[in-house]
Amino acid sequence: MPKLGEILSQKLYGENIGGELYQFASKIYPICRSITGNGVRETLRHVKSVVDIDIHEVPSGTEVFDWKVPREWNIRDAYIKGPNGEKVVDFKVHNLHVLNYSIPVNKKLPLAELKKHIYTMPDQPDLIPYRTSYYKDNWGFCMTHEAMQKLPDGMYEVFIDADHNDNGSLTYGEYLHRGETEDEFLFSSHCCHPSLANDNCAGISVNAHLARALSGVRTRYSYRFIFAPGTIGSITWLARNRETAKRIKHGLIVSCVGDPGGPTYKRSQRADALVDRAVEHVFKTTEKAPNIIDFSPYGYDERQYCSPAFNLPVGLILRSKFGEFPEYHTSADNLDFIKPECLARSYKGLLEIVDIVENNYKAMNLEPNCEPNLGKRGLYGAIGGDKNAYDANLPVFWVLNQSDGTRSLLEIAARAKMPFERIHAAARMLSENGLLKIV
Ligand code: ZN
Repeated sequence: MPKLGEILSQKLYGENIGGELYQFASKIYPICRSITGNGVRETLRHVKSVVDIDIHEVPSGTEVFDWKVPREWNIRDAYIKGPNGEKVVDFKVHNLHVLNYSIPVNKKLPLAELKKHIYTMPDQPDLIPYRTSYYKDNWGFCMTHEAMQKLPDGMYEVFIDADHNDNGSLTYGEYLHRGETEDEFLFSSHCCHPSLANDNCAGISVNAHLARALSGVRTRYSYRFIFAPGTIGSITWLARNRETAKRIKHGLIVSCVGDPGGPTYKRSQRADALVDRAVEHVFKTTEKAPNIIDFSPYGYDERQYCSPAFNLPVGLILRSKFGEFPEYHTSADNLDFIKPECLARSYKGLLEIVDIVENNYKAMNLEPNCEPNLGKRGLYGAIGGDKNAYDANLPVFWVLNQSDGTRSLLEIAARAKMPFERIHAAARMLSENGLLKIV
């Protein structure tokens, strides 16, 4: 007979989990990441200091489905010097200043020519935008619109010391916690954005710490954590792990989980998978204004996991929705934008989702002829009429009433509009006292 496991009652985090998550995000925030290169490796080394991930290198040029692993990009320095010889843009001040994946350049040119290679946001004139050019050779700089408008006419010197290596590789990290079954729960975070705190230092931090927490407990499912560059990283992983992918029974892409907005959940393509229902239930019972949206083929790596050949039950969990918060893909997505308490809420929410998936059994009431006499078993200790007794006993009555063997604990929790944890605790108590059989 299966036994109800315990996730939430174990000490899977200390009181300062928010601070720990924030500190880790701060550590990796300054690194200049991209879809390949040393920034990803350095980030994964930090992840490895939290949980013992395997780090994989896939050579540039490797065919992965309809794509090819790109040449590896590394950058050392970049700047623009104005007519008087002073730096007006400096990569060393902010790594968003360089168009990510820029080809090298070293030349002098007039302002009008230079402007063709400068990206700004006129509607957010005080912020630096984040721009990339992965698959088209180009060079460029990003800066605030205000600063660009102040550039005087004259000749400018542009310098980007970067290279694209044909013999390089794409790097990703992976951790597997083995549970009682080979069926897997996948958690994945993209690790390709440079200095953007919410998108996705926050997700990397939450995922790394969740992996560490689960590594120390016995679980029914196996848990796989992937830290890979967006799009090309998940395509590469899926191309190399077609058999493993079949074992994924639940999955979440974890992005933008550190800001005070949301939370947001984008359903898997299937829309009614257990993970979809679990996230919705956790959001509805613990958050004030959850935003639950249907699947669309635009967003993060859920696009790859939900593509027709795989169609895995993988959703996307965020706080504010990508593309909709003003800080998105700008220099305002910095360490002031993410908050320890928001990271902690995301982390605890994921543990609650894990708890549901681990324990969503159906149960059978073994005393179904009217209500069993809880008092004679010492299970109804409180004084009649006490309001606290009503609160304490209500989940027990829900479980007894609904457990005819056809309904899962999550379905009961949803009908009772109660946190899963309370229904789960009642079911555990009843099964330990011989009143309930887990089927
Ligand atoms: Zn992004």
